[in-house]
Amino acid sequence: MPRFFIDEKPKGEEIIITGEDAHHITKVLRMKIGEELVICDCQGNDYNCEIESLQKDAVCCKIIEITESVGEAKADVTLFMALPKGDKMDFIVQKAVELGAKKIVPYIAKRSVSRPDEKSMRKKCDRWRKIAKEAAMQSGRGIIPEVCNVLTHKDAVKQASEYQFALFLYENEQETGIKSVLSQKEISSAALMIGPEGGFDDSEVKLAIDANMQSVSLGKRILRCETAPLVALSIVMYESGNI
Ligand code: SAM
Repeated sequence: MPRFFIDEKPKGEEIIITGEDAHHITKVLRMKIGEELVICDCQGNDYNCEIESLQKDAVCCKIIEITESVGEAKADVTLFMALPKGDKMDFIVQKAVELGAKKIVPYIAKRSVSRPDEKSMRKKCDRWRKIAKEAAMQSGRGIIPEVCNVLTHKDAVKQASEYQFALFLYENEQETGIKSVLSQKEISSAALMIGPEGGFDDSEVKLAIDANMQSVSLGKRILRCETAPLVALSIVMYESGNI
């Protein structure tokens, strides 16, 4: 069933959808009066609704039933992703949303080849936010995960180090596997920091460790920068009982 998002709890028995979502309902999905859709308030509630009236830029929906949003992971997981080359970030954002990440924070690493100027960075972030919304609709999420503005590595480390599990996925980590860290205690929040195609620079490794991030390995094989976030997210979601 089609899924849409509003950013506050509805006040009465009806929800009015406007803007591009109304256009999507009327012109793309060509939905009719009486048909049903799900509206999420991004606060843990799904509203099963029936379309009562349709205008080009306003669709009035009657709430039939309120249920808990089951598509949200109990753990608050944020992906800190170094800007990769080309359009890999489109794929990474889409999969991170499907896998349950609550937030995606792009950052510029020393070895990030892609260094767009401010204007194209804004365009990229807008595109990633659109991808995140579409993936949230498709995968049955209860929220649209936030795609943040691009940070420096230093600011990304500062934010990531605040999490209960602040994991620095380091390709040269020889001692500590991700499982041994995650199995220590219940996971309520986790930051996963992934490097670019060229990996992490020594100064970035030092900065992360000095900020008390935990360097962990995903095994002996070197994963591509678009594979590693999916593996790390899947492991955290599995270990936290959300897969
Ligand atoms: N240039 C590096 C090399 O050849 O050793 C590979 C970097 S890898 C393509 C991109 C990112 O994926 C890494 O910076 C790391 O965050 C993550 N990654 C890939 N394989 C990993 C592994 N086995 N353990 C931990 N992280 C890994």
